[in-house]
Amino acid sequence: MLFDTHCHLDDEAFSGDVSSVVAAAKAAGVELMLTQGTTISSSLDSIALAEAFSGVYAAVAIHPNCLMEEIPQFGSVDAFLEIFTKMAENPKVRAIGETGLDLYWDDTPLEIQKKFLAAHYELARRTKLPVIIHCRDAEAPLLEVTRADFAANGPVSGVIHSFSGDSEFLAACLALGFHISYSGSVTFTNKKFDALRETVPLVPADKILVETDSPYLAPMPYRGKVKRNSPELVVHTARFLAGERCVPEEKFFEQTTENAKKLFGI
Ligand SMILES: [Zn+2]
Repeated sequence: MLFDTHCHLDDEAFSGDVSSVVAAAKAAGVELMLTQGTTISSSLDSIALAEAFSGVYAAVAIHPNCLMEEIPQFGSVDAFLEIFTKMAENPKVRAIGETGLDLYWDDTPLEIQKKFLAAHYELARRTKLPVIIHCRDAEAPLLEVTRADFAANGPVSGVIHSFSGDSEFLAACLALGFHISYSGSVTFTNKKFDALRETVPLVPADKILVETDSPYLAPMPYRGKVKRNSPELVVHTARFLAGERCVPEEKFFEQTTENAKKLFGI
């Protein structure tokens, strides 16, 4: 059994098709999925999908790249906390995600991203849920905000999703207590992913998770060959990781599923 800890079932790539996508995942042994929120409406859609399908759970948050479009809907951090605390009362909501920092795109000024990353940590404390962290070209500010926030307010559990860093960033994330989740990008054969692959054997067995980030990042050998990635393909990423860690597939599948169930309280 496998747990796809990060997918976007509300994405238009899955529009009108989610029931067959979920059925195909289950047929491939991917019985559990955590679908992410990226805006207020996407978070509500994620909850609706989680309510509609057994084995599907929801995360709610505002993606750093979506903040500028979302902020006018609530204005203040207090109002943000109120809206999302209410959403998180739904028993199928098992994480605050996805939040984080992104300096690859310039949709949101860094100061606003930092302020709302801290707001999502506060939301995680209030709701007692783990956070799902997106970090793209923003490792130094992510560590800076997180260390300061945890030192002042106490740590929050969570996961660095679609981990893309090197062994130094890995050590810093583990020191903060985070889990590490790999997506299909770890299977990519380009040279620039060598440093990422070198981190795979270094993650403690009880901290590693797997995900698709579907409909994005289809793993090898499907990269560029399918019109969308989907949760069933997490099997290929998990198989690849088991090989890199020299662990029997079945054992690795079981371990990552147990890790995810424990982290998300399932
Ligand atoms: Zn995502």
